[in-house]
Amino acid sequence: MPKIYLVDVTNRDGVQTAKLGLSKLEKTMINIYLDEMGVFQSEFGFPTTRHESNYLQANLELAKCGVIKNMRLEGWIRAMVADVELAYKMVPGLEHLNLSISTSDQMINGKFQGRKNRDDIINDMIAAVEAAKAHGTKTIGVNAEDASRTDIEYLIKFGKAAKEHGAVRLRYCDTLGYDNPFSIYETAKALSENVGLPIELHCHGDLGMAVATSIAGAKGVIDGGQDAYINTTINGIGERCGNADLVATILAITKSKGFGEKYKLGNGIDLSKAYKIAKFASYAFEVPIPINQVGVGANAFAHESGIHADGVLKDPENYELYGFEELGRGDPELVETGREICAGEYSGISGFGHIMGNMSISFKDKDEANRILELVRYANVEAQKPLTEDELKFIALYPDIAKKLLTLTPLE
Ligand SMILES: [Zn+2]
Repeated sequence: MPKIYLVDVTNRDGVQTAKLGLSKLEKTMINIYLDEMGVFQSEFGFPTTRHESNYLQANLELAKCGVIKNMRLEGWIRAMVADVELAYKMVPGLEHLNLSISTSDQMINGKFQGRKNRDDIINDMIAAVEAAKAHGTKTIGVNAEDASRTDIEYLIKFGKAAKEHGAVRLRYCDTLGYDNPFSIYETAKALSENVGLPIELHCHGDLGMAVATSIAGAKGVIDGGQDAYINTTINGIGERCGNADLVATILAITKSKGFGEKYKLGNGIDLSKAYKIAKFASYAFEVPIPINQVGVGANAFAHESGIHADGVLKDPENYELYGFEELGRGDPELVETGREICAGEYSGISGFGHIMGNMSISFKDKDEANRILELVRYANVEAQKPLTEDELKFIALYPDIAKKLLTLTPLE
């Protein structure tokens, strides 16, 4: 039986969201947390964007030395030979790539204004796949942007051409969140049956259905005989109204009525990391978690009205579909309400030593402490908010990798 895998795109679609962004260290922490959670793949950034290259290389090193253990790191670029060449020039160790190109008539005509037709799109995609192959890319995914507004016969032709040239997956992008669960089921099933490749579902929330369309699409793909890959973002952060929320998608697959009996996750997901990753993303993006957010919102397990409170006290299952413990909630959170020493871009060694000492991190000598402090300062320059304990520990544990990912060299 084919399975469902998760490809998180927070570090690509999430960070390209208007008004939002992450520091390179924050992106790195997200990769580490996604890996801990058991996510199959992280779309970890933009290999052709200059300021990403040190971060991307540093994260590939983290995978090599086993800090990121199982998760694939995959870069997103346009399906153009020039982008493939530039990607490998800037990030030589890339193993996994997704190549994206618009496939709907709306976008072909609207973006290229008559300079390209449907055949040109397929030819550009093929050339990009071949170029990636020539660089030894281990897995190549091909993205059909605006697939939900693309003629299905053409989409099948596009997918088959991608397969013939060595792509391992076709990404069906519901770029505008136009699909509903019924429409995407039919389309995804047809693609799965006719293209013969595993299909990725990339769904947006413009009509409030990103998670629903994602799992309906996955069902279609599996019913058509192929593995399904669902694109998610943490807290659903993404372009405009966002993407399919990671935690909600996992819960929908595993907890919704009857779904998980037949349609299963391909690898184990540690749901107990859900709360931590949601809280971190909220802090890093500086976007509060809505009170009614699925699983991780402040009200997800709150009961007030008489009938509900009484019912849940007698048996939580009366009014809760899943337990807070499963999501890693329930631990008390310490918030300092008195004196506080923070590490920042202008910190000195005394305050820094105090902070690290509280986390039981010691340094072998003054030079080492100063070196780590200097990296922490730079991390703060990027983040413009106090680093979390995990971030400070990361810098102390992997100073060389931290230095690399913090290094930005504009206009060289
Ligand atoms: Zn998107």
